[in-house]
Amino acid sequence: MTTHVENCLAQWVNQLYRSAFISGESADFYYLNRGPGPIPGETPGVSPLNVEAVRKDFPILSRKINGKPLIWFDNAATSQKPEPVIEALAHYYREYNSNVHRGSHTLANEATDAYEKAREKVCQFIGASSPDLIVFTRGTTEAINLVAQSYGRMVLRRGDPIIITVMEHHSNIVPWQLISEQTGAVLNVVPVDDNGVLDLDVYQKLLAERPGLVALTHVSNVLGTVNPVRLMIQMAHDYGVRVLVDGAQAVPHLPVDVSELDADFYVFSGHKMYGPTGIGVLYAKRELLEAMPPWQGGGNMIRDVHFDRTVYNRIPHKFEAGTGNIADAVGLGAAVDYLRRIGMAAVSQHEQQLTAYAMEALAAIPGVRIIGTAPHKAGVIAFTVADCSLERLAGRLNDAGIAFRFGHHCAQPVLRRFGLEESLRISFGLYNTRQEVDRFIEVLQQNIDRPFPWFY
Ligand code: PLP
Repeated sequence: MTTHVENCLAQWVNQLYRSAFISGESADFYYLNRGPGPIPGETPGVSPLNVEAVRKDFPILSRKINGKPLIWFDNAATSQKPEPVIEALAHYYREYNSNVHRGSHTLANEATDAYEKAREKVCQFIGASSPDLIVFTRGTTEAINLVAQSYGRMVLRRGDPIIITVMEHHSNIVPWQLISEQTGAVLNVVPVDDNGVLDLDVYQKLLAERPGLVALTHVSNVLGTVNPVRLMIQMAHDYGVRVLVDGAQAVPHLPVDVSELDADFYVFSGHKMYGPTGIGVLYAKRELLEAMPPWQGGGNMIRDVHFDRTVYNRIPHKFEAGTGNIADAVGLGAAVDYLRRIGMAAVSQHEQQLTAYAMEALAAIPGVRIIGTAPHKAGVIAFTVADCSLERLAGRLNDAGIAFRFGHHCAQPVLRRFGLEESLRISFGLYNTRQEVDRFIEVLQQNIDRPFPWFY
C-alpha cells in the first residue's frame, strides 16, 4: 500500500513533468506511476518492464480492429507513439511554432531552443561526443543518401569496391548503386549462412581489397540478426576503411553507443523508435562532417552568400539546408526522453524474452519455417508456412486484429538468398506481451489449412 507521503511525492513529480513537457492535460505515464523507488536506468541488473503499465502510454493500443483488440506486431515497419510524444508535437504547434535560427522574437527563440535541445538529447542517447555530430534528416534513407552523395562522391573512384551485406534493406543498397553509377565504384556483398549469420571470412577477404567504404546494418529487418558491428568496424579500421552502420532496427531495441562502437557513420529513423515520422539522424565523426561537402544547398546551411562564392555554415547546419522538420525533431526528443526513462536495457531484455518465447511457439507448428535463426537475434521473426497460401493467412491474421508484414520487407536480396520472394513477418516493440504472442499463435494454427493434414 502506498503511503500519503509517497502519493504526494508521486503527484509532485507528475506535476513537474507536466509543467515541463505537457500543456494542460493530465499525465498518466508508466514511469511516473510505477510507484516509489528509483526509475530503472540503463545499467545491468535490469528491472523487468511493467508492460501493462507501458501499454497505457500508447492510446492507439486500445483500438479495436474488426472488433478485436489491436495487436501491433509491425514494429519493424514503424512503432506506435506514446502520449508524451503526441503531447510534445501538439504542445509545439499550440504554443511555440516558429522557424528556427533566424528569428529575433520569443517564439523563434523557444523553437530554436527546443530543436537544439532535441539534438542534445539524441547526442546523449547514442553516446555521441557532441551535438555538432548529430545531423537531422528525414530518416535512415535520407541519411544514407546524404553519406553516399557527399562522402561517397568525395572519396570513391572508378573500380573502388563498396562493401555491403546480403541482408541490407533496399535503402542501404540502392543509394550505393546510384553512387556507383556516378563514380564507377563497384558493390561487393558479404553473404550469410543458413542461420542468417554473416560470413566474416569473406568480409575479411573483401576488406583486404581496400574498399572505399563499408555499409552494413546493425540489425537485419528480415532475419533479426544482430551483427557484430563493433568487431566488424574494428576489422575495417585495421585496413583504414570507414564504416556506415544502419541502426534503423537497433536504436529502438538495444542500448547503442556510437563512440564505443567507434562507428564512422551511424544512421536511424525517429518513427521506428516511438518518435514521429519524417525525422531521422545521421551521426558522423567530426573530421568526416568537417571534410564532407554539403549535399543540398539553401537557407540555414550558409554563413555568407555572394554570386561568385558561398561560405557554408558550421556543422551540423551545413547539412540541414532549408527549414527542417522542427516539430518532429522536438517529438523525437520526447521519444528519447521516454526511452531513457524506461531504460534501453529493460526494453532489450523484454524484447529478447518475448522473441525467445515466440520463436519456440512458432517453431513448434508443423510446416512453419523461420527465416533467420542466428544466436544473437532481435525481435524480428520472418517465416513461411508450407503448403499454405501466405496471402490467405495474412488476411485471416488481419481479420483477428493482428498487424504484421507480408511481402518482401524492402529487402529482396536476403529473402532470395533463402529462396523466397515473400514471407510473413512479426516484429516486437516494448509494449508487446506474451498474451499477444499466444493469440497470434492461436489464430495462425486455426487458419493453417492442410491439404494432407496427416502428413504433418
Ligand atoms: N534500414 C533498415 C534496416 C530498415 O528496417 C528500414 C526500414 O524498415 C530502413 C533502413 C529505412 O528506414 P526509413 O524508411 O525510415 O528511412
